[in-house]
Amino acid sequence: MRVIVAKTAGFCMGVKKAMDIVLDAASDKDTNGTVYTDGPLIHNPQVLDLLRQKGIGVAQDSSDLSRSTVVIRAHGITPARRQQLEQQRVKICDATCPHVKRVQRIISKYAKQGYSTLIVGDKGHAEVIGLLGYAEGRGYVAETLDDVDKLPPLQKVCIVAQTTQDRRMFEKITEKLKDRYDSCEVFGTVCSSTSERQAEVISLSKSVDAMIVVGGRGSANTNRLVKISEAEGKPTFHIETVEELNPKMLRDFDVIGVTAGASTPHWLITRVVEKLESYQSGRFGKLQKSLKYIAMYFVGSNAYASIGAACLTYANCLIMGIKPEVIYSAIAALSLFSALALDHFANKEANTLNEPFRASFYQKRSSLIIGLGIFGAALSLTLSFLVSPYVFLLVFFTSLSGMAYRLEIIPKKLPNIIYYRSLKQIQGSKELFFSVALAVYTALIPFLGSGSRYFSSLSVAFFFTFCIVFIRAVLFDIRNVQGDMLVGKETIPIAIGKEKTKIILGSMAVILAIFLAITPRIGWTSYIGFYMVSCVIYACCYSYLYHKRILGDGLLYEFAVDFNFILAGIAAFVGENLFVVQW
Ligand code: SF4
Repeated sequence: MRVIVAKTAGFCMGVKKAMDIVLDAASDKDTNGTVYTDGPLIHNPQVLDLLRQKGIGVAQDSSDLSRSTVVIRAHGITPARRQQLEQQRVKICDATCPHVKRVQRIISKYAKQGYSTLIVGDKGHAEVIGLLGYAEGRGYVAETLDDVDKLPPLQKVCIVAQTTQDRRMFEKITEKLKDRYDSCEVFGTVCSSTSERQAEVISLSKSVDAMIVVGGRGSANTNRLVKISEAEGKPTFHIETVEELNPKMLRDFDVIGVTAGASTPHWLITRVVEKLESYQSGRFGKLQKSLKYIAMYFVGSNAYASIGAACLTYANCLIMGIKPEVIYSAIAALSLFSALALDHFANKEANTLNEPFRASFYQKRSSLIIGLGIFGAALSLTLSFLVSPYVFLLVFFTSLSGMAYRLEIIPKKLPNIIYYRSLKQIQGSKELFFSVALAVYTALIPFLGSGSRYFSSLSVAFFFTFCIVFIRAVLFDIRNVQGDMLVGKETIPIAIGKEKTKIILGSMAVILAIFLAITPRIGWTSYIGFYMVSCVIYACCYSYLYHKRILGDGLLYEFAVDFNFILAGIAAFVGENLFVVQW
């Protein structure tokens, strides 16, 4: 069985924005009282459960909203409802999707000019109810072609679409409305995210034997995807969770397409895809499955990232003009392996959402991985002692500070004037800490071990490693932002937003590339530093591919991101042995 996942599957821009706003409101220290959403934020029971666990309620008519924060969901509300909320003196956070706001503005403008409004959409849907509120009492809804016949005679008509409407249905109904009414202003307000998702289902259905649509049963846009796929003649299965899948229902199909509604989180899609891939049978399927398991063991166990740390150490030795020793690479690899393995268990909640494949891998082998983590730490300390007592102390204190990072240093008994009680509560501290620790393992330790005195070369190797690791860590945080917010993790994209974070990473990449190009010329490092520019270019490439959704966000993404460390080793090896540049 082959699985093809739609590139447009999962949260759309409007839902992502609404999630960010509600989670921001819940973690805002100035927010008093409860955070409510005005109606269910999205039509996905699993996400709503997680929001409930975070203390985010759904406002009911009977809810006492005084001193609360109320988030208007992406569907928007009527002007009358907004007035009602304002009168209750609640803090309002408006998460209405910009596409929905545009439709509201169109309806309001034409209603003021005496037009009646005709919305092609689902009667009773929250967005449609909100839109009708702008029609000044002259709003109508047409869900089917038959509904057009039931409409009253109208003079001037403004026709809009519910943003998640099936574009083809909108066109059909519009044609009939134009035949019926002389004066029509038509606005094709189906949002781009919906159109692209629907167009992809149509094209995907041509290359698969069956389609699985993941999403809430109450989600209008998910149901629409199901109907479109069925209309294309494909057997279509609508599921809400992975538990609804079973191998029997798919046994007659070789190629399965997977898509999802705009309110389906990526972790649900990932779980479905992983389950489907586990059904693979036949010789080729078994081979594929075995390769995937090998990759899962290799990447999921962090062995791959640890080999990357060893390669990075090798590159840093050559950048600093030091003879690469296996023992330096072994210390870096073992230290990183134990840090990542033990860190996973401290971060279990977030990992279950962000990295389901790794979470289940660790869950099944928890004793083995904890044992290997402790063994790795002990072996790295022993090896560092063999290099020198200074190196031993450095590895010891770096590992110790990794553990202290999560401890509450400020006791709870002290008054609330101190918000930060542990290092991990400081936004961005995890990325900074991790980057410095890896720069210590891969650059400072070989430097101290070799007795080198070229501090300028150390500064280049340290800065290079810090930047490359920082970019890696923050890119993972951008991928995990929704899951991290749900469990209250403090990361840089959460603190300053994804767009500002991307600007910082881009600027960092440019500065690092210039730095690496200049420092060998002014004699701070060997010419190998120049070869490291390839790692910066590679980081920009995989970030771009991820941004364009060409690179998924599971195993393949991790594999591609962590390859950068291995690339550093390869580039250094090539520079040292094959293409020696006389600088
Ligand atoms: Fe906005 Fe379109 Fe998403 Fe609706 S489906 S929230 S209109 S982006």
